[in-house]
Amino acid sequence: MKDVVIIGGGVAGLGAALTLGSSEGSKRGRIETLVIDNGKSDLKKAELHNVPFVKKGTSGVEALEQLKKDALEFSSVEFVEDSVLSIEGEAGDFTIKGEKTEVKSKFIVLATGAHELNIILNGKKIPTETHELMPKDGMIKISFNGRQKFKEGIFIAGLLSGVTTMYATALGSGVEAACAILSEIGGKTVIVHDFKGSRDKK
Ligand SMILES: Cc1cc2nc3c(=O)[nH]c(=O)nc-3n(C[C@H](O)[C@H](O)[C@H](O)COP(=O)(O)OP(=O)(O)OC[C@H]3O[C@@H](n4cnc5c(N)ncnc54)[C@H](O)[C@@H]3O)c2cc1C
Repeated sequence: MKDVVIIGGGVAGLGAALTLGSSEGSKRGRIETLVIDNGKSDLKKAELHNVPFVKKGTSGVEALEQLKKDALEFSSVEFVEDSVLSIEGEAGDFTIKGEKTEVKSKFIVLATGAHELNIILNGKKIPTETHELMPKDGMIKISFNGRQKFKEGIFIAGLLSGVTTMYATALGSGVEAACAILSEIGGKTVIVHDFKGSRDKK
């Protein structure tokens, strides 16, 4: 049983994974996290000149690889390549089925981008709406309440949550989803902040 399965390993999903992974070096402890991704991030077409702390001219592919590497340096984070087909169950006991993978988790982050969403949740298509901030037609989002929360145990991040299509906004919503989950697990507001030397002993 994973604590969190993140469906979609673009900037939003990997940003959520990095934040959840960083919990393992803090007093909050390990959050066992799996990212499932089928390799079609929009970022793969980009060359970046306006992302804070990303060197100008970095390709989207390189930026994604670096983000993935950073997240996977935390041993509580794993990554598999697969397409998720369905989710069954309720908060605390979800079963996520892909073409090759079947895994259980307590929480889910949906970070599949703005393209059509074909994942079946408890036998039904997940309801989506038009993503009105996207510059091209046919793009979708999911509405949520409060902190990226779609329903108990399921959080939405990235373009799927309706943010403007920019690296930094997608990343921010993934981090917000991760902190919302950490807060639910902790039973109070939780963030993970390091300070100089705080990981030296680990
Ligand atoms: C040509 C182009 C240039 C761009 N240039 C810039 C720029 O210069 N600066 C900037 O800030 N932004 C830029 N962007 C925008 C940026 O790429 C997006 O805002 C960002 O990638 C959105 O991140 P995301 O994680 O929400 O979605 P994505 O990056 O699209 O990631 C979604 C991931 O989910 C996966 N997925 C989907 N369904 C499933 C499933 N069922 N199972 C498993 N995995 C699944 C996909 O394969 C994908 O990897 C550009 C976009 C494009 C298209």
